[in-house]
Amino acid sequence: MSDNRNISQDRAEEIRKKYQQERERRLKKEGTDQYNFAEGALEHFADDPYAGEPPAREALVEDLDVLVIGGGFGGLQAGATFRKNGIDNFRILDIAADFGGTWYWNRYPGLRCDVESYIYLPFLEETGYMPTERYVRGSEIFAYCQLLGRQFDLYDRALFQTKVAGMEWNEGKARWIVQTDRGDRFAARFVTTQSGIFSRPQLPGIPGIADFKGHIFHSARWDYDYTGGTTEGNLTGLADKDVGVMGTGATGLQVIPQLAKSARSVTVFQRTPTAVGVRDNGPTDPEWFKSLPKGWQKAREKSFTDLSSGRDVECDLDDGWARFFRRMVEAAKSVPAEEQSAEAIGEAQEIADYEYNEIVRARVEENVSAPETAAKLKAYYRTLCKRPGFSDEYLPIFNRDNVELVDVSGGVDRISESGVVVDGKEYTLDCLVLCTGFELGTTWSHQAGYDIKGRNGALISEKWAQGLVTYHGLFSHGFPNIFFMGLTQTGTTISVPHMLQEQVDHLTFIILHCLQNGCKMVETTKEAEAGWQDVIAEKNELRRPFQEACTPGYFNAEGKAEDRRSAIGSGMYFPASDFFEMWENWRRDGNFAGLTIS
Ligand code: NDP
Repeated sequence: MSDNRNISQDRAEEIRKKYQQERERRLKKEGTDQYNFAEGALEHFADDPYAGEPPAREALVEDLDVLVIGGGFGGLQAGATFRKNGIDNFRILDIAADFGGTWYWNRYPGLRCDVESYIYLPFLEETGYMPTERYVRGSEIFAYCQLLGRQFDLYDRALFQTKVAGMEWNEGKARWIVQTDRGDRFAARFVTTQSGIFSRPQLPGIPGIADFKGHIFHSARWDYDYTGGTTEGNLTGLADKDVGVMGTGATGLQVIPQLAKSARSVTVFQRTPTAVGVRDNGPTDPEWFKSLPKGWQKAREKSFTDLSSGRDVECDLDDGWARFFRRMVEAAKSVPAEEQSAEAIGEAQEIADYEYNEIVRARVEENVSAPETAAKLKAYYRTLCKRPGFSDEYLPIFNRDNVELVDVSGGVDRISESGVVVDGKEYTLDCLVLCTGFELGTTWSHQAGYDIKGRNGALISEKWAQGLVTYHGLFSHGFPNIFFMGLTQTGTTISVPHMLQEQVDHLTFIILHCLQNGCKMVETTKEAEAGWQDVIAEKNELRRPFQEACTPGYFNAEGKAEDRRSAIGSGMYFPASDFFEMWENWRRDGNFAGLTIS
């Protein structure tokens, strides 16, 4: 993939128009409501195929310092950090049967993390673990989650296959009273919540989906009993099967090559192509890994987040992400000092982004021999309208005789008993794999699967019906002693565990202060919350033109940027490094600005 391509003003204008046309072709008036989130007749799509019935256990009645809801990276990092700080009276709940969160649910063949493992896997210096490759398999990440559980002694604190059934603030006791579906009853001084973002299947709202008589499942509930094989592929059960795949996002990119290598035929139903950059994976050099100086992981992580936050720094890491962000930084620098303004920088970055995507589109032609197929695989929208993809395997797979690409940008007519119908033509299938993403566009409480009753009976589902209202993402007025982790109104990073660790460090600082000083209640003030909402509104306003020009996806509420009910929709675009520095200074000041501590 050549590194440079300068485009003329005319070409830039053509691209702008093309992006607009492609967006309009895909806009659906239903936005996020076009999907089903494994509900009603489709509820079974969310069943756990990896675990049997939960083992019997006694219901617990416990008084806790902290209740951690969610055992993915957020819960693991919280648990590990608590242990390191001498906070031991905590529990971790998860509906899954093990730690891992996203990496518990997603076990599909070909799964890898698209962020470099050296920064993605937390605590590498403490565990001494060397990732086998630069971008490791999902199975290795899941095993690493289990290793963290063992290393930080978290298994005896974990309650798996356990769901929150009710949660209410008791003002007199200054405790959260939390009940579970296993009959447990906890009185917790503090609660952290991190409901998984890539866990709950999102299903296409295509008529007839419940009628399909072949085999059908979502990528995050992979049915190896049917397909055979493992996460490494070799899906022997598909050798005599005609398989359809819907969804060509980050997941589809990894699944489709594996299906193509094993199935008799694969039909890919593509609504929007992903921009596919170079992956360039490889094994870890043990000598290099051994030579890394103390503190290397934090430094590497920080330089990557700084670069993606638009800072002109040396980045220890050089990959597709870093090269894209470097381009953006260089574009900003190209604006003469006397002309520097948000608008001028935005324009320079828009052109740099067009140039970058011209290179990505040229890569399709380099890899796909049939021009008609190559044309369909070219992405026409700006980087970061959707999650960019990286693969060296995906594009060439379309040169195989057993792979067909069907453009469904105009929509699928219906799913019949025997296949998928597009423009009146039925594609007969034995199996349909849905790589159609995750529930990300609904409200916080819908995604969490439980409601929270705060002070005076106020419900979080009501307070956040039109989107999150928080102070720094972590706190919400009327809901004391609870920390909302995840993609809340916070500084978001490409490497999610980095963001989660910043949140964990911040909330641990506050919890420790309370445990050591006997304070009972921490709550954000109304004023601080309102002030933070103003900051967010201002940031969102700046981002709005970009979002409104984007092709539909979960980053812009499926093309309805005004729909801000979800955590992502009501989020903010605060450069992560600036946000983390703000928190660092806040902790250093030590006056707990914006919080009431009683
Ligand atoms: P996405 O939400 O990104 O993609 C869903 C796909 O399903 C899209 O191609 C979408 O098309 C398609 N789709 C939805 N409805 C229909 C329909 N009715 N007809 C046809 N196609 C349809 O989900 P993914 O699982 O791919 O990825 C979700 C996120 O998970 C990523 O953005 C990433 O953050 C994370 N991820 C990370 C990985 C990693 O390596 N770290 C790997 C995999 C996922 P359209 O684009 O038109 O909406």
